[in-house]
Amino acid sequence: MKYIFGIDIGGTNIKFGLINTDGKILLNDSIKTKSELGSDKTFDRIAEEIEKLRVEKNIEKSDILGVGMGIPGPVLNQETVVFFANFPWEENLNVSKLLGEKTGYKVKVDNDVNVITAGEVWQGAAKGHTEVLGVALGTGIGGGVISNGKLIAGIGGAGGEIGHMTIVPNGKLCGCGKKGCFEAYVSATGIERETESRLSINKKNKVWDIVVKKEIQKVEAKDVFDAAKLGDKFALDIIDYTTDHIAHGLSIVLHITNPKVVVIGGGVALAGDILFDRIREKIKAYSLPVCVEELKILPAKLGNEAGIVGAAALILN
Ligand SMILES: [Zn+2]
Repeated sequence: MKYIFGIDIGGTNIKFGLINTDGKILLNDSIKTKSELGSDKTFDRIAEEIEKLRVEKNIEKSDILGVGMGIPGPVLNQETVVFFANFPWEENLNVSKLLGEKTGYKVKVDNDVNVITAGEVWQGAAKGHTEVLGVALGTGIGGGVISNGKLIAGIGGAGGEIGHMTIVPNGKLCGCGKKGCFEAYVSATGIERETESRLSINKKNKVWDIVVKKEIQKVEAKDVFDAAKLGDKFALDIIDYTTDHIAHGLSIVLHITNPKVVVIGGGVALAGDILFDRIREKIKAYSLPVCVEELKILPAKLGNEAGIVGAAALILN
């Protein structure tokens, strides 16, 4: 049996998985990211952790096929991180070379949502498919586009950055500085902003009832979904508004790559059927029949392990 290390670098923690070529996770671990120590020191610590885990599991170096890694930010050729979205590290850092030299293994790196999408194709909801759109609906929106079995990166590593497609000209402000981005409408943050603005003129609803009972009276996207599940009209209107925008945004990508499967993960996707049923219905109005006839829109399967499993998948591809 051969093994792969899958690594997921987040703002707070770096997660490690030792995964065999059947996709089974033999070991899970994590260390604090401590990005303030700089990139070189961080990759030293990653190399040490890899060695520690290998020895712990008593695996020969020659049985390790490589190290896959997911990072937040655009990546070129699965080697060079154009910039790290969370850390003030150097730009255009060839992580593949850097960690390769420190460990002696083959190293492949990709954007975190691309990695999650690769994981869903290897072991999750899109298993075995070659035409896939992966979507992370969370605080922000990320995408991973797989066409003809390959992740699309483009010339600057921004391929699949669907969160910043303009879906409403001159629309709501986005964190990226543009107006009308997909993310400004359908991310958890976008849903919360829309809800706050509606609550400022209407408090006779179950969302407000939930919010006032909380210690810190701040709207969370989950409050809207919880109220909607109780049949609250105010909340259901917000769900309709949000799923309209999700369907519209996704349909744009459907007309470019015509995928067979759209896999949606992230915190917002946990809302479940109340979200998915509407997206599946509404997307028809925005799409040519050929784009939706065979399309499956599915919730992601791998959850918290998507990052390490997907990172390992990079080495097998
Ligand atoms: Zn934006």
